[in-house]
Amino acid sequence: MRLFVWLALAGCLFAQEAQKKKKAPVAGDDRQGYTDTPQIPGQPWKVHDAARPRPRKVAPAATTGNPPADAIVLFDGKDLSHWTARTREGQEVAPQWKVENGYIEIVPRTARLVTKEKFGDVQLHVEWMIPKGQDGAGQGRGNSGIELMGRYEIQVLESYENLTYADGQAASIYGQWPPLVNASRPEGEWNVYDIFFEAPKFEGEKLVKPAFVTVIHNGILMHHRKEILGRAIHRRVATYAPHGPEEPLSLQDHGRPLRYRNIWIRRLKGYDE
Ligand code: MG
Repeated sequence: MRLFVWLALAGCLFAQEAQKKKKAPVAGDDRQGYTDTPQIPGQPWKVHDAARPRPRKVAPAATTGNPPADAIVLFDGKDLSHWTARTREGQEVAPQWKVENGYIEIVPRTARLVTKEKFGDVQLHVEWMIPKGQDGAGQGRGNSGIELMGRYEIQVLESYENLTYADGQAASIYGQWPPLVNASRPEGEWNVYDIFFEAPKFEGEKLVKPAFVTVIHNGILMHHRKEILGRAIHRRVATYAPHGPEEPLSLQDHGRPLRYRNIWIRRLKGYDE
């Protein structure tokens, strides 16, 4: 009998401890955002700030169409001849992503897709779709990304109904700026990005001009020549590291299935050239 009382008491204490642990302050997660990340320079928010308001939803405009005559068509629905692939470790490998029905489908965890050609200032058009019936939440739902110069990420994510921190939802400049509004289409529908990008400039190790980006998502302006703070990393402030004036464009393999189609790019030159 005495043993039973002791066991009951111990059980009670254990339950209380577990409850306390549950209530302890948490730094957040990729659905609600974080409270323990560093301040973003020049902004009142922390990286992936839990308190940063989520952009309001706006129903998108009609958008898709044929590439202009002077565009380099990076994917026309047929093959990956303009692409190679690169692992996280930087090793170049043959692309494993599937081409079917006029689109590319990510085969998760096989390596990011990287253009063979390098680019600096560009206009880029990309269409993407998250296949219906995905699981996962936060950053785990339909995550990929348009990596300009292989570094500066415009986020691709399920953001029609999936909650995450504001600076990590679809069309965000990842870890820096949320989109102005949320124009996401649901799973099973094509989203369209039109991106206008100015490459950063370096003199030796020194950054002399940051990158700027304009992003249109489904016909709606998301960023207007916004300064990019550097290459974003999860939970850290973005920083620049010097690189060439032109670098390959890449599509992120974040371990989630996703489709891309109708990808074209134009090199931007100045006036009177
Ligand atoms: Mg991503």
